[in-house]
Amino acid sequence: MKKCPFCAEEIKDEALVCKHCRMSLSPNVQTNVQASQQPTTKKNKAFAYLLLFFTGGLGGHQFYIGDWRRGVGYIILIILSGVFSAYQELAVSQGALAILGIFLIVDLFQLSKKVDKINGKL
Ligand SMILES: [Zn+2]
Repeated sequence: MKKCPFCAEEIKDEALVCKHCRMSLSPNVQTNVQASQQPTTKKNKAFAYLLLFFTGGLGGHQFYIGDWRRGVGYIILIILSGVFSAYQELAVSQGALAILGIFLIVDLFQLSKKVDKINGKL
């Protein structure tokens, strides 16, 4: 006999579903239950990184994970860089790009954790 992790009632060792609370005890089925509970909020980590690599300068990955304020900030930095570059203020233009670059490097390390948080794994 073992204890059901959901209702703490005694059940048979071979049981796949608890007879008391009807919760599934197989790990695979459990994750399916969790996934179906919040299907709309799940974010794809690989897709988030694709966005970071291809649209990172425009904050694509930030919009994807719902942090649109930061995404807008990235776009503003890109526009500032372009505007200052047009006025031959290259130092300011490159400064804006450097700040954006630092944000993107930080994102490279933190994006995975942020997606996990959104998906309820942390
Ligand atoms: Zn149970």
